[in-house]
Amino acid sequence: MAEFLVLGAGMVGVSSALALQARGHQVTIVDRTGAGLETSYGNAGMIQVEAAEPYALPRDMATLFKYALEISNDVTWKMNGALQMAPALWSYFCNSSPEKHAKISRVHSQLTFRSTADHEPLIRDSESEHLITHCGLVMLHRDEREFQKASKKAEFLMKEYGVTSDIFDGKSYQEKEPALKKTPAGAVHYTQSWSCSSPGGLTKAYCDLFVKRGGRFVTGDASTLQHTVSGWQILTSDGELKVEQVVVALGPWSPELLRRFGYQIPMVYKRGYHGHFNAPKTLQRPFLDVANGVLAAPMVKGLRVTTGAALVPLNSAIDTSQLKRGAIALNEIIDLGEQVEEPQWMGTRPCMPDMLPLVGDAPNHKGLWFHFGHGHQGFTLGPTTSELLIQAIEGECNELLEALAPINRL
Ligand SMILES: Cc1cc2nc3c(=O)[nH]c(=O)nc-3n(C[C@H](O)[C@H](O)[C@H](O)COP(=O)(O)OP(=O)(O)OC[C@H]3O[C@@H](n4cnc5c(N)ncnc54)[C@H](O)[C@@H]3O)c2cc1C
Repeated sequence: MAEFLVLGAGMVGVSSALALQARGHQVTIVDRTGAGLETSYGNAGMIQVEAAEPYALPRDMATLFKYALEISNDVTWKMNGALQMAPALWSYFCNSSPEKHAKISRVHSQLTFRSTADHEPLIRDSESEHLITHCGLVMLHRDEREFQKASKKAEFLMKEYGVTSDIFDGKSYQEKEPALKKTPAGAVHYTQSWSCSSPGGLTKAYCDLFVKRGGRFVTGDASTLQHTVSGWQILTSDGELKVEQVVVALGPWSPELLRRFGYQIPMVYKRGYHGHFNAPKTLQRPFLDVANGVLAAPMVKGLRVTTGAALVPLNSAIDTSQLKRGAIALNEIIDLGEQVEEPQWMGTRPCMPDMLPLVGDAPNHKGLWFHFGHGHQGFTLGPTTSELLIQAIEGECNELLEALAPINRL
């Protein structure tokens, strides 16, 4: 059995460590802070079976025009972000053609479909059942035409990928969700997805399980990683560590590290924000306010409102305008109550231009494994792609691994 270093203690890194440990490997996780304190902390907490199709870039002129002028709140952008990401965005645009997107979705849907089953044993063994609700995710529509389109889409997702849903007209859904103060046009309730009331808490609980099972967690900076003749070494709070194998699971920070080893990873950075609100009425289940591009989900800290995507450079300054716009519009349909005072969280979805995570060995270095780029669904997919990473490490070969392999995509 080999000694592994896993860089990054988000959902993807911690799940990788647990999967390696289950195969008898000796594993150390290194993170510069603690477990589940970055992107895996502040997301919307959905384990998304319904996300069979990853987010494509729209290609119709009307929507592109809307995004360009920031008329819609679900996508905003800054010129420096768009310019910096231009090659990755172009590739994302090309991969969003209906034919390519359909092919990519056939891969993505195989991952999302098994996501709850892959989380289940970890939720049980980490005693985190209290954080999970099996309540599905609702797409709430304010516009009748959009609702009709969404209903057709739901039928398609059922036929194509086995994604189950219930369709409600506005009145019937309002009866199911008393927190709604206005009648929407309608709602599509995707029933297989789960909701977590503390995504950071769940990631931390998985990490605690890993440590309880004999794994080691240390703090350290991944940028001190060195490739040596005998393997890899890194500086940590416990001193210098030498290992044979390294898994890079640094989410949006992965390209930064890998540039030092000669890899140019094209990544689209989609920034998001959240705020918590003391809403007087608890939601029955999370919903996406589709017209407004924000998701509302009950969480330990209050009702969490998460925003869509801001295309900005990874380290750009905080700009809460998308969150503010979203909260004002959301307040039209539910009482949000007072916003909870807290330091402003922001996080970045690490999106690959072909909308699939990179899982497999590094093209030019022995003992280096890539496991990042999970985009909008890293919280959902951490345990699932970790099982695939193990298959790759064990030398298995199958269609799914081929589709996710760095060597075929970089
Ligand atoms: C607003 C928003 C909402 C979202 N909602 C959902 C959702 O509902 N469902 C879903 O499935 N996904 C969702 N996502 C996506 C999901 O959060 C991410 O895909 C996922 O968290 C990525 O996990 P990760 O482990 O790859 O990265 P991270 O959680 O970011 O972990 C990376 C780790 O690397 C560490 N690190 C970075 N640099 C260094 C360094 N130099 N040295 C040491 N350590 C370092 C960080 O401290 C961090 O702990 C959402 C994302 C956003 C932004």
